[in-house]
Amino acid sequence: MNKTFEKYQSQHSIKRITGAEAARRILDSNGLQNVPIDLITGNLTDNYDPTANVVRLSQSVYNNTSTAAIGIACHEVGHALQYATNYPPVRLRMAIIPVTRIGSRLSVPLIIIGILLGSLSYFFTVLAYIGIAFFAQSTFFQLVTLPVELNASKRALQQIQANGLLYDSEIQGAKDVLNAAALTYVAALALSLNQLIRFLLIVGRRRR
Ligand SMILES: [Zn+2]
Repeated sequence: MNKTFEKYQSQHSIKRITGAEAARRILDSNGLQNVPIDLITGNLTDNYDPTANVVRLSQSVYNNTSTAAIGIACHEVGHALQYATNYPPVRLRMAIIPVTRIGSRLSVPLIIIGILLGSLSYFFTVLAYIGIAFFAQSTFFQLVTLPVELNASKRALQQIQANGLLYDSEIQGAKDVLNAAALTYVAALALSLNQLIRFLLIVGRRRR
């Protein structure tokens, strides 16, 4: 992701539009004049905050005229559009955030206690499985995140074209950066799934 971003950070868009300007244009053309665009610190920390209804862009995206910056800025606007249009996966993701937050804190301690004390009583094995259920819920959260992220990128590319922000010859830069970002979410899901299977195998083996 970082490498692809670096590569296209030096490919400046022909129209010399910054990430913030591109985001502003798409928000306005979709009737979202009320959504502000703020500058935040950090590298690739860009996000859309649904609670405050704010698009936050990092320095290297906000003021940069590269195809990479425009791609990322428009992806965050894609999230704002998802909330504005009540896109179902984003609503599901939002709804399960509280459970995921509690579950992700409890899952590993419960699994460890359950495994360590499993030989004492069947109660602890049940405890380990409750921990695994919590962990499975966080894996499910990663699964729901994937279509949300892919859809935000799809909306970004559609809006870039509809608003004529990049020429057809330049759009590949934005596309490559967004594809690299999508891969990080695929990797997170794969890791979570792998860990879930490992926990199931460990607790299953202890039971026998
Ligand atoms: Zn995103």
